[in-house]
Parts: sequence; C-alpha cells; structure tokens
Amino acid sequence: MTSPVYLDYAATTPVDPRVAEVMARHLTLDGVYANPASRSHMPGWLAEQAVESARRQVADLIAADPREIVWTSGATEADNLALTGFMRANRARGRHLVTSRIEHKAVVDTALALEAEGFDVTWLTPGADGRVTPTQLNDAMREDTILVSLMAVNNELGSIHELAALAEVVHAAGAVFHVDAAQATGKIALDVNAMGIDLMSMSAHKTYGPKGVGALYVRRSPDIRIEALIHGGGHERGMRSGTLPTHQIAGMGEAFSLAADAQEADHTHGLAMRQRFLDGLAACEGVHCNTALDVSVPMIVNLAFDDVDGESLLMALRALAVSTGSACNSASVEPSYVLKAIGTDRIRALASIRFSFGRFTTEADIDTASAELRHALGALRQ
Ligand SMILES: *Cc1c(COP(=O)(O)O)cnc(C)c1O
Repeated sequence: MTSPVYLDYAATTPVDPRVAEVMARHLTLDGVYANPASRSHMPGWLAEQAVESARRQVADLIAADPREIVWTSGATEADNLALTGFMRANRARGRHLVTSRIEHKAVVDTALALEAEGFDVTWLTPGADGRVTPTQLNDAMREDTILVSLMAVNNELGSIHELAALAEVVHAAGAVFHVDAAQATGKIALDVNAMGIDLMSMSAHKTYGPKGVGALYVRRSPDIRIEALIHGGGHERGMRSGTLPTHQIAGMGEAFSLAADAQEADHTHGLAMRQRFLDGLAACEGVHCNTALDVSVPMIVNLAFDDVDGESLLMALRALAVSTGSACNSASVEPSYVLKAIGTDRIRALASIRFSFGRFTTEADIDTASAELRHALGALRQ
C-alpha cells in the first residue's frame, strides 16, 4: 500500500533532514552528548554551548533576547507555564484572565483548571473569520484583569490575530499579553517588541523540528514574573527544572534558524499550493470555506462539504492524511469546538476537513488530493 499524501502539517511537520542531521550530532560519544549543566569538564561546556547557540537561534526568529527563552517540552507545557505560572505569581494584583473559545486545548484546559482554582476567566467568542477584535477585547478588560491569552494563528482555521492591536488594548488596561505561537513560527513574521508580546509559547514540531521540545518567551523588561510548575535542579533560572535535552534543543534551534531563512519561500509555496488545491475543487458543488482566506496563513484551509457525512468522507479519503479538526479531538465525534465557536452549524461542522500544507508538499500531492476529493464527493453523493 502506498503511503497517503500528507496534508496534516498543522498536526505536526516532518523533521527537516537538515534538522535531523544536527540532532544526530548531539547524541553519541563522537558528538555532543554531555549534560549541559556539567560545569566541570569540556564535554559539558560543549553541550552548554550547543544549548546557548540554539537559544540564540530561537530568540532571533522572534527578535527576543536569548535570556528571555525558557526551554520546555513543547507548546503545551509553555502554555501551562505561562497561564498557571503567571496567574499564581501575580494573584495579589488581580484574579481575572481573558482568553478565547478557539484557543488550543493546552490553553483552554489550563484556563478551566485555573477557574477551578478560584481564578476568573472571560471566554471571548471570535467572529466568523476566527478572530477576536481589539474592541471586543477592550470591552472584556476589567480592573482586576492581569493576563490576556490569545493565539497568533489558529490551528484549525489558519486565522491570524492582529497581535499588535490586541497588545495595545492589553497594555492600556495594565495587563500582560500571552500569545500561543505554536502555529505561527515560520509562517508569519514575529517580533515580540514590535508586537507587544510579553509571554509567547512555541513548539519545534510545527516548524520542521522534533516533537517533545518547545520554549516559552518571558519578557525581561519590564520583568514578567512567573512561578515554576516543575521543581528540581533550578534549571532555566528556576522557571523550569530538568536536564536539558541537548539534541532536541539543537534541533529546535536549527529548525527555527531554517524557518527564518525559508519563511518567504515557504509562504509563497503555501499560497501556490492553496490556490492549486482550491482551483482543483472549483468545479465541485457544495464546497464551503470555513477559513477566511484573506486573514489566514496559506498553509491551513478548512473546508465544509454539503450532503456528505464527515466520517464517511474521511473514510473515503484514506489516500489522504488529513484531519477533521485538531488532532487532539480526533477520538471524539463531537463537532470541532473551534468551528462551533465561530458559528458553523453542527451538520456543516461535522462535514468539515482541515487540509494543511507545508515545505515538502508537491503539486502532485495537491493534484492527488483534489482528484481524491472529487471522486469521494461524487461517490458519496450518489
Ligand atoms: C500543536 C499546538 C500546541 C501544542 O504544542 P505541543 O508542542 O504539541 O505541546 C499548542 N498550541 C497550538 C496552537 C498548537 O497548534
């Protein structure tokens, strides 16, 4: 059986071969294998150097200072650390958090846990374009609001938040701005200072790096205080203990450095792939775009199909690796909470599929995808 055409880059990307090569050099005896916290010997210093060089590569992509980067196991942990760590450390200043209904589960479930802990959460409902507006945010701000958490790019729709404008509202109210940028690195330009971002979650594996590593950007000026969730050896300036996984970190550094170089080419390629895909479906009846194309990244497009059952459609599309929403929900048959939040009706939400492209997607992949879709829709609607 030939392997399916991979159109699920928003769930995870394959590791760029150049990244895999760097990682392999940070594992074995002939490479950089020591504990980066070992200060008493040369192998330890080399590992520390590798970690610090990767820290600079990650910082460079977002125009941050390397000292503002805290390594984590991924964006899920970064989101947990940002929300819980910040709310707990600053509870004396207020107990109110503002977020949206279309955040990733890593933010949604953390905010729910904070509610259970006694914090107060406002859940904003975005518009049909998948975005919360600055005016809407302004109306939600209160005297006791200390944190706002909104994602840069939505993982199911591809919609891009107007971060700079939202940050102005947050700061005018004296609060701190956290951004989940797991889907944004390498896809849109990110500058934490120009955009007024105070805390930002990142993941390696959505940007051609390995799974299991990520980072939290924590602004130093003005100093943002967060409480650690993981206690131990006091690594990462006490914010996140645990021996640093040198190979994972070196891989993330390389992936982010490649992302900086490739961002324009990746974007152009994404636009071409999306256009080719939509052109290939132009003749199909009853295809609706859940993604607001003009305000979204080109690599993610969410489509709804009339007169078919979502599950049957997915079954008929076994030659394509795609998803009906975020991968984290794929075990349940409930419609995507993101589509629900932007007002998509239940039937249409259940018959929606997310197609996501990337650096290694070819025109042949796209042509296979549109042909498979045309065939499946024809067969199922008979
Ligand atoms: C994938 C993703 C996460 C989780 O990242 P992990 O590194 O897999 O933990 C968080 N937020 C968004 C928007 C994502 O797409």
